[in-house]
Amino acid sequence: MAYAYTPNNDMKTPYPPGYPMNPGMPTPNQPPYYNTPVPPPVPVIQPVTVVQPMGFGHMPQAAQCSACRQQIVTNVRYESGGGTWLFAFLICIFGGFLGCCFIPFCVSSCQDAVHTCPACHAPVGRKNVL
Ligand SMILES: [Zn+2]
Repeated sequence: MAYAYTPNNDMKTPYPPGYPMNPGMPTPNQPPYYNTPVPPPVPVIQPVTVVQPMGFGHMPQAAQCSACRQQIVTNVRYESGGGTWLFAFLICIFGGFLGCCFIPFCVSSCQDAVHTCPACHAPVGRKNVL
């Protein structure tokens, strides 16, 4: 009669032997449609502003401020540099009228362009005439 009282020890385990305990493990009996490759969502590529630190011109342009690290559009200030004096000197040599030698000091394309940050007013870049 003792045999009839013997409980089944396997009933204590919640899972029968052979059941995949790790849910992360792939089971070989998976339906095939689980294995169909789903195209991953296309990552949204942020438009990257190409910063050309050496490519400053005479016009305001987008750049990253080296001081405040912001994407800014530079303010341009014109300063008379060596190229401005050279243009004035050439005008004087080649028969410029009186006062014409000061034209380069009024023409922005004959002056050095100094790009500054509109936020922190730090110099960002410079375009020399020469
Ligand atoms: Zn700045």
